[in-house]
Amino acid sequence: MNAPWLEAPWRTATQRLLAGRVPHAMLVSGPPDLGKRDFARRYAQRLLCQQASGEAEACGACRSCALWAAGSHPDFTTVTFGERDDGKLRSEITVEQIRALGSRLAMTSQFGGWQVAIIEPAEAMNTSASNALLKTLEEPSRNTLMILVSDAPARLSATIRSRCQALDIRFPARGDALAWLEGQGAPADQASFALTLRAGHPTLALASLTPEGEARTRVVLEDLERLAAGRARAPALVQGWLDDQPIERVAILSELLRVLARAVLGEHRDVPAALLRLSRLLPPGELPKLWRAWEGSVRVRAELSGPLRADLVLSELLFGVADLWSVPHAGG
Ligand SMILES: [Zn+2]
Repeated sequence: MNAPWLEAPWRTATQRLLAGRVPHAMLVSGPPDLGKRDFARRYAQRLLCQQASGEAEACGACRSCALWAAGSHPDFTTVTFGERDDGKLRSEITVEQIRALGSRLAMTSQFGGWQVAIIEPAEAMNTSASNALLKTLEEPSRNTLMILVSDAPARLSATIRSRCQALDIRFPARGDALAWLEGQGAPADQASFALTLRAGHPTLALASLTPEGEARTRVVLEDLERLAAGRARAPALVQGWLDDQPIERVAILSELLRVLARAVLGEHRDVPAALLRLSRLLPPGELPKLWRAWEGSVRVRAELSGPLRADLVLSELLFGVADLWSVPHAGG
């Protein structure tokens, strides 16, 4: 697996298996886009594999692994959003789905080994579904494992959480994340900047490091510098932003303002030089205004896909940003 932050959780999970301490339910939780679902699937395949041993991955060659690869392993199932009658996806996991899962797990495994189910996203279970799951957990069948996968475990009921063995997937330490990004081909300075902007999230940082993503970040940063120096006025920038992925640009602006606020608060570690310069140019006492601008950027990001006039909301945002660096008039 090419994600070092999953190695420790993998060791934990496989050691539980080797020690015969696999629970009936496991909750794999953590921020989005860190590979939780893949992790759950790898672990499921490992449990079902007929040859793997120790901390190794599934062998990929046995009969069970062949069925797995074909997507037709009889002892594995995934519960996720089902289709409604009109063919659209539901927005919740229903009690019928969980009851069907319970009946399935109550039957004997076809291979005489484990039966594994992944419920994902687990927080999408509605109240009746959660209650049905609790029932299943109260009368577990032997050698069954339910893996709940969730970005938002706080939205699961406390009782469900208490019945699951937790496995948290977390961001890697900054040094590990940088090493991983460089291993993916990212130049060190760009990796560092991208990781800071994405608040330490390795895969989001990597996704932003495409030539296109990089160019977008550069444009937003340059516009921010021009606004701060009074070299550009907000209305002049609006059209350019509207013409080229305004929501993505505002998202980048949000991140830049957040890092800028950190720099103003004296947290200078890993802050890119351009943002440090901008933070030093801010008139003293501007932190509340900076937070307001940041809040504005978060709001505008949502508003840009709504009914309001995009040019007006964007213009107001950029005015507010430019205003951060405006020098107060003497006596004003
Ligand atoms: Zn195998």
